[in-house]
Amino acid sequence: MPLDDPNLGEIVVSQEQVKERIAELGREISDDYAGRAPLLVGVLKGAFVFMSDLARAIDLPVEFDFMAVSSYGSATKTSGVVRIVKDLDIDLAGRHVILVEDIVDSGLTLSYLRKNLKARNPASLEVCALLVRKGRQKRSPALKYVGFSIPPAFVVGYGLDAAERYRNLPYVCIWAGSES
Ligand code: 5GP
Repeated sequence: MPLDDPNLGEIVVSQEQVKERIAELGREISDDYAGRAPLLVGVLKGAFVFMSDLARAIDLPVEFDFMAVSSYGSATKTSGVVRIVKDLDIDLAGRHVILVEDIVDSGLTLSYLRKNLKARNPASLEVCALLVRKGRQKRSPALKYVGFSIPPAFVVGYGLDAAERYRNLPYVCIWAGSES
């Protein structure tokens, strides 16, 4: 068991695996966007840890912006109805935008965000998600960059929380506590 916490279960993605995969994603993005300065758009709060490490693995000038969304529904299940709590500061028109997400589960949050950002006329829009939960998306979510595909259990760590805790764990592990 990682940490001495009965709420934490098996490690799904280790610190070493995260590090290696982010280095690969950074190289891929650096090649794909060579000669351009992509704008990384992070979805708060979950994506901040991943985005910080990913950005440092990209060998290009990058810019950052963040948005915060809240989805209606319980903490562990999304309803797909998304409200923008903090909007972007930067105008997306003509920009090469990479939307950085912590985890894609049903894909409803992502599909809302993609539509919303697309309407702001970026030159291009791609998605980079650290985790994708296998078999949960109804339609193919067209994810260009994915860190890991994970099994159906609820996870915490590396930016992902349970009631705001565990975001600072350097790995991703199964949440064995009760769902709120
Ligand atoms: P979707 O709209 O794809 O169903 O849900 C995406 C959002 O739900 C994520 O951005 C995240 O906030 C939350 N979420 C989904 N699965 C998990 C999980 O296993 N752990 C945590 N901490 N959040 C999750």
